[in-house]
Amino acid sequence: MEAYTFCQSCGMPIDRPGLSGTEKDHSRSTIYCRSCYRDGEYTRPEMTLDEMKDWVEKELRKTKAPEETIARSLSRIKFLNRWLGIRAIHHSCEWH
Ligand SMILES: [Zn+2]
Repeated sequence: MEAYTFCQSCGMPIDRPGLSGTEKDHSRSTIYCRSCYRDGEYTRPEMTLDEMKDWVEKELRKTKAPEETIARSLSRIKFLNRWLGIRAIHHSCEWH
């Protein structure tokens, strides 16, 4: 199975195993980060896209990311599997 480089919910990089979420059986998720996904469920299933953008912006500001990086990350979120309504493990080929 192909591992994602970015969380398919918040778009944060998953470039270390410790950053990935966990499945029900406690194996590592290759799709979502640990902030978004734990034990096979979203940590905040009720979250809206706008709430996610706010959260990501706050997290990126904490890391003192450049404005350009923040803007790029925020514009990318809506194309992630979670917000396209894709629960599965495949990349979407449709970029609107
Ligand atoms: Zn995430």
